[in-house]
Amino acid sequence: MYVYADNAATTKMSPTAIQAMTDAIEQYWGNPSSLHTTGQTAKEALEAARAEIAQLLGAESPREIYFTSGGSEADNQAILSAAQFGARKGKKHIISTKFEHHAVLHTLQKLQKQGYEVELLDVHETGIVTPEQVKNALRPDTALVTVMYANNEIGTVQPIREIGAVCREAGVLFHTDAVQAVCHIPVSVREDNIDMLSLSAHKFHGPKGIGVLYARKGILLRNLIEGGAQERGKRAGTENMPAILSMAVAMREEMAQMDAVTAKLTTMRDRLIEGLTKIPHSRLNGDRNQRVPATVNFCFEGIEGEALLLMLDAEGIQASSGSACTSGSLDPSHVLLALGLPHEVAHGSLRLSIDAETTDDEITHILTVVPRVVSYLRNMSPVWEALENGEKEHLI
Ligand SMILES: *Cc1c(COP(=O)(O)O)cnc(C)c1O
Repeated sequence: MYVYADNAATTKMSPTAIQAMTDAIEQYWGNPSSLHTTGQTAKEALEAARAEIAQLLGAESPREIYFTSGGSEADNQAILSAAQFGARKGKKHIISTKFEHHAVLHTLQKLQKQGYEVELLDVHETGIVTPEQVKNALRPDTALVTVMYANNEIGTVQPIREIGAVCREAGVLFHTDAVQAVCHIPVSVREDNIDMLSLSAHKFHGPKGIGVLYARKGILLRNLIEGGAQERGKRAGTENMPAILSMAVAMREEMAQMDAVTAKLTTMRDRLIEGLTKIPHSRLNGDRNQRVPATVNFCFEGIEGEALLLMLDAEGIQASSGSACTSGSLDPSHVLLALGLPHEVAHGSLRLSIDAETTDDEITHILTVVPRVVSYLRNMSPVWEALENGEKEHLI
């Protein structure tokens, strides 16, 4: 059996999204900046996609939607813009959290080297950051608060609406990396008090290399690329029409199905949680309920996540130890360390992220194979032996 359980890393494009892409290549190949009919036909399709995305996100106007090359670019652009314009008003303090995606954390590190003061909030053991924490960290010189909507490794959902309200009351810009949230849980930029939001199409069955930065009317953005007047002059270059039109279609489709899919996914996810919790010395990472419907993350004491992944792959189960961006390095996940897990425990992590195509039989397969592989690896592990004969103390 072949099970793809790594949808938090990327998803397979839906047939409708693929169709929209090929339609765009054939029908809307003109340059939207051209004044002739072929160009204007493309321009109309482009602006229709922008308007649809604005509406699906609860934005006030299509002018608040900027197309980017994906989630990373949107995160970079939001943070660097807020930093640049904040500094002009003498504001160089930025608040974020310890468990953000590297697109956020590495951008913040770069700013720190340039003299910005970056404050990374601790994350509660449940994988949640509270509005009170944000409120307590705010200062008169705070230029930006950036907190992710849903964490990509453990799936926990943050109280974004409340954090947004705290920021709005203080008059501080609020950005959220919503890449794992949009099309997975209800998100509305207006109701959630969001000033800037990043999303990426390949996390919701759309194409890779395309995303959106939502920036509320009046928010200043720097020029990311100099050149033509595309994206209101902020990001020059002829628009990626096939990807943009396909993203809009994928977003509409996913949002229309969200309620039904959520019900199905939640049932399967809860089966995974119940089944994997039965493995001795295992732990579910992140709050049991305040999480996206499709992602679970477990630690199994006494094993290495990498070994587990390779053996699962051999059994037809494709998963991840956390973020795709950190696999290949032997450092434990910064997300799990932020939750306060010891290094030894954080090393033995497994993320399973399912989607609407996942079947009950596949869940059964996972629940049969994972316990077997975990116990096989433990039997070969000197660390496990030390834990079992009492030379070392169990941490979970
Ligand atoms: C995938 C992901 C990104 C990066 O998006 P890309 O489109 O791959 O650049 C950023 N943030 C989170 C939370 C993600 O899951």
